[in-house]
Amino acid sequence: MKVLVAVKRVVDYNVKVRVKSDGTGVDIANVKMSMNPFDEIAVEEAVRLKEKGLVTEIVAVSCGVSPCQETLRTAMAIGADRGILVETDAELQPLAVAKILKALVDKEQPGLVILGKQAIDDDCNQTGQMLAALADLPQATFASKVEVVDGRAVVTREVDGGLETVSVSLPAIITTDLRLNEPRYVTLPNIMKAKKKPLEVIKPDALGVNVASRIKTLKVAEPAKRGAGIKVADVATLVAKLKNEAKVI
Ligand code: AMP
Repeated sequence: MKVLVAVKRVVDYNVKVRVKSDGTGVDIANVKMSMNPFDEIAVEEAVRLKEKGLVTEIVAVSCGVSPCQETLRTAMAIGADRGILVETDAELQPLAVAKILKALVDKEQPGLVILGKQAIDDDCNQTGQMLAALADLPQATFASKVEVVDGRAVVTREVDGGLETVSVSLPAIITTDLRLNEPRYVTLPNIMKAKKKPLEVIKPDALGVNVASRIKTLKVAEPAKRGAGIKVADVATLVAKLKNEAKVI
């Protein structure tokens, strides 16, 4: 079985992002970029399935600017067999990425597609669900455990009320939650090996996908600064303040 894994290049989770002074977006010049953490979990899961003998090939896909090739090399250092960069300078929204992935699903015919549950830059949490709808495939989102048995994936999902287990027929779309696994560290020998693995670069046009933006960002602003907290003498004072000053009770 072939697995397709979507990996997005995002601002590293340790970076404190700054809004550009003209309010048009977030400043990403000279900022460390990394693979979206949920996508690292997706690659790790695919590699574990391969190690169990359930998967024969892992194809990592990234959509975006040319440096996304680094993200694909990281995926290949974790264990993906090859990479596909769908290269564009356009600002991609989840629907455009889902359309690209749908075209690649048609082309590559994977038995499983694994994505992160959300990208930590836009926090959209939409691409996997949109892909499932476009490709008309079953979806199991927010996976915290995946087992592949008899042509089906049994997926434990983290939902508001606790854990839910669903069984989906393959091919299917799975999105990863934080507790699915802990991605391995990439070793130097594997980084070196990854440099030799095949990486194909194609344009969205070649897949017949129009990536034109459908959303216009009007303004980006920093959240309001929080004021310092205060200590109150007793519960009565706290209740009085909540009632009279904060007016929340
Ligand atoms: P989002 O819907 O934007 O929160 O993203 C959810 C998941 O879709 C991510 O964790 C990735 O697996 C995948 N994804 C989103 N954008 C891209 C992209 N530009 N390239 C590759 N994968 C992406």
